[in-house]
Amino acid sequence: MSRRDELAGALTALEDRLSAACDAAGRRRDEVRLVAVSKTRPVEDVAELAALGVRDFGENRDQEAAAKVAAYAGTGGPAVRWHFVGGLQTNKARSVASYADVVHSVDRDALVGALSKGAVRAGRELDVLLQVSLDGDPDRGGVPVADVGSLADQAAAAPGLRLAGVMAVAPLGADPAEAFAALADVAARVRADHPGATDLSAGMSGDLEQAIAAGATYVRVGTALFGARPPANR
Ligand SMILES: *Cc1c(COP(=O)(O)O)cnc(C)c1O
Repeated sequence: MSRRDELAGALTALEDRLSAACDAAGRRRDEVRLVAVSKTRPVEDVAELAALGVRDFGENRDQEAAAKVAAYAGTGGPAVRWHFVGGLQTNKARSVASYADVVHSVDRDALVGALSKGAVRAGRELDVLLQVSLDGDPDRGGVPVADVGSLADQAAAAPGLRLAGVMAVAPLGADPAEAFAALADVAARVRADHPGATDLSAGMSGDLEQAIAAGATYVRVGTALFGARPPANR
């Protein structure tokens, strides 16, 4: 089977899952945007999926992402949006701000400042989502729930950034339905102060149904589209 056929088959199966999950939740399919997480995958895979209609791609390493964004631009394929979904060092923020359209992993004041500076310097506006730590484990990234409000105020006031909403990864071993319901509560509190922050980024290959039931507007899917990744980059 050609890689195109493989990806087309995976995309069809994934679309079936997304439609079924939307139906089950009483939501329209167009309320949920698919972000194809292309980390570790070659630009050829991105180009194939773009040709099949996917318009949003996610990366989690600056160096890899910057190279892939440039390589994709060189293919002359349709315009796509690039999402940064991984832990982000402050010293990489300027680079990320030069090519990303949406950053899902903003979890501290210093990162808000650095992304804001980078966006202004590049003459761009970035959508930012606050990554929330639902279990308070500092090693896995995310702002503790108690600090989300002040970080939201910071991001909303930062030039070059648009506070778009919140994001989380379900904690290891947690019930994803419970985790995403907790995230939806946080999202509602942020929205009370910042009505434009309507995005909820939740759900990966293994738990996108629970995320859609909880109101996800972005699902971030890697494995279910591209197949298993090498273990070094999970
Ligand atoms: C890799 C990654 C994904 C995709 O995970 P899959 O289980 O392969 O679908 C989603 N979100 C983040 C933050 C990731 O790093």
